[in-house]
Amino acid sequence: MKQPPTRNFEDIVARLKASLNPIGEWTTMDTLSIKDRDYPLVKIVIGKGNSRRVLISGGIHGDEPAGVETICTFLENKLYTDFLENWEITLLPCINPSGFEAGTRHNQDDIDLNRKFKEDQVPREVAFVKEVLDRPYDLDLELHEDVDSSGYYLYQKDQTTDLSTLGRKILDRVESIHPLNLAEEIEEVPADRGLLSRLSEPEEMEWWPMALYAYTRGCSHVFTLETSPALPMDVRIKAHLLAIQTALKHVEEQNL
Ligand SMILES: [Zn+2]
Repeated sequence: MKQPPTRNFEDIVARLKASLNPIGEWTTMDTLSIKDRDYPLVKIVIGKGNSRRVLISGGIHGDEPAGVETICTFLENKLYTDFLENWEITLLPCINPSGFEAGTRHNQDDIDLNRKFKEDQVPREVAFVKEVLDRPYDLDLELHEDVDSSGYYLYQKDQTTDLSTLGRKILDRVESIHPLNLAEEIEEVPADRGLLSRLSEPEEMEWWPMALYAYTRGCSHVFTLETSPALPMDVRIKAHLLAIQTALKHVEEQNL
């Protein structure tokens, strides 16, 4: 019988807290009580009040741990330091903590949280994210993994064309450490060397992932970033970190 993964969300909370002092602002926006365990829904803000705003999130699918690990590593290695002059960085380290611990895509009620953003009556994890998206961000980076993919790819959705080359820049950098998915179509979307930018408009879709909700809330540039779990964890983390750093640097350099 397959053993469930032995991930412990308390370990993640401890790592995040240890890495923050004294730089970040920690907010527990809600706490899920499941069986006899408490799972905080956590928002971390670094560089509060800075003019550019980025939202970086992981773990909405519990069986995609690289996003959660990337955010821990980003904090532990103080990789935000280069960006603190300009950026207010908001981190949602793990949107689906019960799924993360169980190693399941869905939450404890067997719901795929990333299909629920068009609805008004939503699970508490989704309500938490919607509250965070109350103010739009310049950049939204959502960290995922795709077990069906042999390489890295990303979805890009922009309000304007001023950053339309950013997705390509991210992939060109990532390719140096993590192969790209070179299929001409990924998840039924036309793809150009890992770049999926010909996406449906919100009104055409029956359900919305978080990215589409972020877009409808006015986020300027929205990226869903996907690693391949066929690669070792440290490579997947490095790929996501490189994507984050490339995006922040590029927006700064273009002075957008
Ligand atoms: Zn996912």
